Amino acid sequence: MVKNLKIKVMNYDDWKLASPPEGGLVSSCCGEDYNEEYESDLEFDYFVCVSCQDECDIIEDYEYEQNRRESYLEDLADEQRLER
Ligand SMILES: [Zn+2]
Repeated sequence: MVKNLKIKVMNYDDWKLASPPEGGLVSSCCGEDYNEEYESDLEFDYFVCVSCQDECDIIEDYEYEQNRRESYLEDLADEQRLER
């Protein structure tokens, strides 16, 4: 929460320099890098995933790992149900 607030306040380049090389924020869809775009008509910031080029939310990389593990376990549970 505090970290997200800091990103909003800081200028993007400053934030990029300040962020550690390992870990950090990733796109919620692919867990990849993202670009920050600015829609000047609407005065609106949004993020675009570099992997799928879609607009995305950004999440902590560990959150992405967690989500991926959860969906993997769900898939696994589905498969096991089918096998029975
Ligand atoms: Zn993506």
